[in-house]
Amino acid sequence: MSERNLIYLDYAASTPVDARVTKAMLPYFDQFYGNPSSTHIFGQVAEAAIENAREIIARGLHCQPHEVIFTSCGTESDNLALRGAAWAARQQRGADHILISPVEHHAVSSTAQQLASLFGFELEYLPVDEFGMVSPEVVAMRLCPSTAIVSVIHANNEIGTLNPIAEIGAVCREKSIPFHTDSVQGAAHLPVDVQELNVDLLAIGAHKFYGPKGVGALYIREGTPIFPSQTGGSQEMGLRAGTHNVPYLVGMAEAFRLAQEEHDIRLTHAQVLRDRIIGTVLEEIPDSKLTGHPSQRLPNHASFVFEGVDGNSLLMFLDIEGFACSSGSACKTGNPEPSDVLTELGLSREWGLGSLRVTIGKDTTPAEVDSFLSLLPDIVARARRSRG
Ligand SMILES: *Cc1c(COP(=O)(O)O)cnc(C)c1O
Repeated sequence: MSERNLIYLDYAASTPVDARVTKAMLPYFDQFYGNPSSTHIFGQVAEAAIENAREIIARGLHCQPHEVIFTSCGTESDNLALRGAAWAARQQRGADHILISPVEHHAVSSTAQQLASLFGFELEYLPVDEFGMVSPEVVAMRLCPSTAIVSVIHANNEIGTLNPIAEIGAVCREKSIPFHTDSVQGAAHLPVDVQELNVDLLAIGAHKFYGPKGVGALYIREGTPIFPSQTGGSQEMGLRAGTHNVPYLVGMAEAFRLAQEEHDIRLTHAQVLRDRIIGTVLEEIPDSKLTGHPSQRLPNHASFVFEGVDGNSLLMFLDIEGFACSSGSACKTGNPEPSDVLTELGLSREWGLGSLRVTIGKDTTPAEVDSFLSLLPDIVARARRSRG
């Protein structure tokens, strides 16, 4: 990239790989390159590395190692959870009802929609409040014996809101309905104890916590009915065929271990900067609103809407000034529409189009945040004028 001073504030989209993670991965590219399924010593070394990675992830999630299934990303983990549990529920007990929140990541919502359109499942959306939060009481009312799977996002990627996963999980557990949560954002910032959370399935992805892109895991509680969605060899207890990506699995485990070890310091660091961003934006920018929950939100996540602003031009103006942020709205040239999530919160088009997401990382400095905050009001005003 160029010499100009670039400031990255899009850690919910992806994070840089931690140098300690890269170092842990390197030997597994060209020194220990065996196939973990091979019998010889090369295979044994690779297998030992992935089983060690599995133990580290299991320790972090508070589960047994055999309850951790390695996948190629957070998206694949969500796909396996939804499709695998839905198929098994239909086969084993004729269940064909899928219950999800309307603020899921597309990895969950598009999978559920495909199960409905191609496989005949009945898809029902849970209502959310103005912060995008699901209530456990409502889940209790919508559950029925034919519910195959329930899925509610742990921490929302777009608006940062945290859901009461433990309470929703308790409701599902009482009715013996499998409960999945997409914790791809959650696991990057919060302690994730699958026992306390009462979940049967939980998805994580390494590149949201300073691991490499293209690797993830799915926690599957022992005894949860599930079929594989990728078939082939017998890797991963027959639930996910394909030769393991050994270096990436080693990297994910090291990144996850560091996320637990440095949890408290990362949390405090992020929260202080997040609250400075939220406070300053709401105070200094007219016609601005916070999206998502004011306190029950990701510690590194600030998201807003600005009335009468086109979010895409705002991002472009920010990019010109060297700030990398994100917007919630799907970028459709010609006919922009607010994102599904923002529409679900009840925001009008005039507000919903002007969205901005600012997410902080462990190495974001107060000076970077100050430099961003000193320019943002002018940039928003510029974006407003440009819309005319
Ligand atoms: C990033 C993300 C995903 C997708 O994970 P990938 O590893 O990029 O496939 C799914 N859900 C949430 C909430 C995310 O933030």
